[in-house]
Amino acid sequence: MTSSGPSRKVCDTVDMRDGFCCLRCGKSMGAWPGGSRHHRRPRSHPWPGLHGPANLVDLCGSGTTGCHGWVHAHPAMAYRYGLLVHSWRDPEKVPVLSKRWGWVWLLDDGTARPLLPSEKDRWLLETGLKWSAEMLDPLVDSMATVTLGNGLSDSGRLTAVTEDPDGCVAVTLDGETDYRLEDYTRIDFDNQGKETL
Ligand SMILES: [Zn+2]
Repeated sequence: MTSSGPSRKVCDTVDMRDGFCCLRCGKSMGAWPGGSRHHRRPRSHPWPGLHGPANLVDLCGSGTTGCHGWVHAHPAMAYRYGLLVHSWRDPEKVPVLSKRWGWVWLLDDGTARPLLPSEKDRWLLETGLKWSAEMLDPLVDSMATVTLGNGLSDSGRLTAVTEDPDGCVAVTLDGETDYRLEDYTRIDFDNQGKETL
């Protein structure tokens, strides 16, 4: 089944959830003509949840103006803020930074649930906003598995953590292989009860 847009019922659900305001800046929908419901995961590759509440947010502006325009002009930041979702991810599992609630999960039942502090930390880490040597230093000597954004992974003893003046953090496994931590890098620690960062 394909459909060119969300149903009336879904639009109403999304508008109610977002309080008839732009999710990003909080501006009331009454202040901008014509609703602009933005698809977080793009419409270019249709999938069953395309027109579901988890994938839709109210944004002010159009494709080139207001917050809608901002999203398209700043894709890298928009992915970190959950306003864009990569085609391989489930929008229900990618949180969004909203003016109204802060960081929230948008669910397909039309509800929004604020992130727990631990969920927020994990997301910030995953998006590379908060990787820091300070955080990883205590885990030196742990057995670690580093999984990069391209899916490649490597395991070994975490022997060093370095942070350059630009805030770029790298980890060394077994004293010889360096991995620079970027968006979507994941680190699992085998001796920490399956801790994942
Ligand atoms: Zn806005």
